[in-house]
Formats: sequence, C-alpha cells, structure tokens
Amino acid sequence: MLFDAHCHCSELGRKYDVFVAAVSMDLRTSLATLNMEGKMLKGVGIHPWNAGNGELEKVKELVERADFIGEVGLDYRLSKASKEVQIRYFEEFLIPDKTVNIHALDAWEEAFNLALKHGVKRAIFHWYTGPLHLLKDIEGAGYFITVNPSVTFQEKHQRVVDASPLEIILTESDGGYVYKGRILEPSMVNEVIEFLANRKGIDRKEVEKIVERNFRKGFGLN
Ligand SMILES: [Zn+2]
Repeated sequence: MLFDAHCHCSELGRKYDVFVAAVSMDLRTSLATLNMEGKMLKGVGIHPWNAGNGELEKVKELVERADFIGEVGLDYRLSKASKEVQIRYFEEFLIPDKTVNIHALDAWEEAFNLALKHGVKRAIFHWYTGPLHLLKDIEGAGYFITVNPSVTFQEKHQRVVDASPLEIILTESDGGYVYKGRILEPSMVNEVIEFLANRKGIDRKEVEKIVERNFRKGFGLN
C-alpha cells in the first residue's frame, strides 16, 4: 500500500489505489471532503490563498468531524491576503491534538514557529522547499515533511531529500494541482517512492515501510 499525505481528492472525482489524506481549501471543499466515500483521512481548513474569505467560523465548526486540519498555513509569495490576515486564520487552526497539514511557501520558519508556539504535536510541512537548516528543527519537533512527484525534476526539492533523513519524509501527490502543465494525482506517489529509493540507495520495499510508519505517526494513527 502506498500513502498520499496531501491530495485535493474532492477535486479529482476518481478513486485511486493509494491511501490518501484528503485536504481542503475552503468551506465548499471542506464539506465536499467530509462527504466523500471510501477509506481515507479527511482534512478541513482554509488555504492561505483564501485567508480573509469570511468562512473561518463555519470551517472551524467542521474541525471535530475531520481526521486532521489542512490545508492551512502561510504563503508569502502567492497569497493576496496580508500577512496579518494569513497569520490570524492560520493560528485559528493550530490545534494541539490534531495533525496540521501545512502549506508554507516563503514562510517556512514563521509557520514552523507558530505551530510550535501553539503546542501542535503533529505537523506536516507539505512539498517542503524551505531552508535546509530548518529540517533539523522539524525533525527535533517530531514533525514531518512531504515529498511531491515534482522531485524528479525540481532541484530545490531534491536538495531537501538529500538533507533529510527518511524518518521525517512522507509521500504526497498534491493531486488536483497542476504543476508545470502536469495534472498531479495520487498514483504518482509511486514515482516519489522510486526516487527516494534510488537517491538514498535503499531498497524500495524498505522505503515503503518507513514511509508507511511515518504516515501513521504523522497522522496519529498508532
Ligand atoms: Zn495542496
């Protein structure tokens, strides 16, 4: 079994042979995710691109029905919302006992520090392309990062893999998102496993085992 720790599955409308953690972006997708059928983990949240959209209270009411929080975070490159508004929304979703699936483009350290400050026990930094020195802190806090299929060609992401122990790595697709003309989907986590095995020089089966263990820890499943 392969594991996808970050997929916009409600937007894909198909089933896959991969165990997914389905993230949401706003009220509409949070409700759509919660209504999905099949065995998966369901996340609700407001993406930093949607910070300030007025849906905070309504999405927060859905949190207790969800398996985890996400996609939430900060995006100091692409979001049109001010930093203040983004931080206000993000902090509302930093709940200590829930896994938080975090988007933190150009805001890696801020997002990490806020998660720590709020006592979040399980955080997953999705598609990590942040500073390499922060990886030690992420590891020390017991948090995780995800590696995306783009790792086959995104050099920045490859350097992250080189600098990270397998023990903090989860695989993801960011399915539903289109990156450089390619529609990402859950089956592509297979490419991530393949890449990790080659790059780390570890048997593929062993990589799968470690990633599964990480996934269980990251989402508090055992
Ligand atoms: Zn995403």
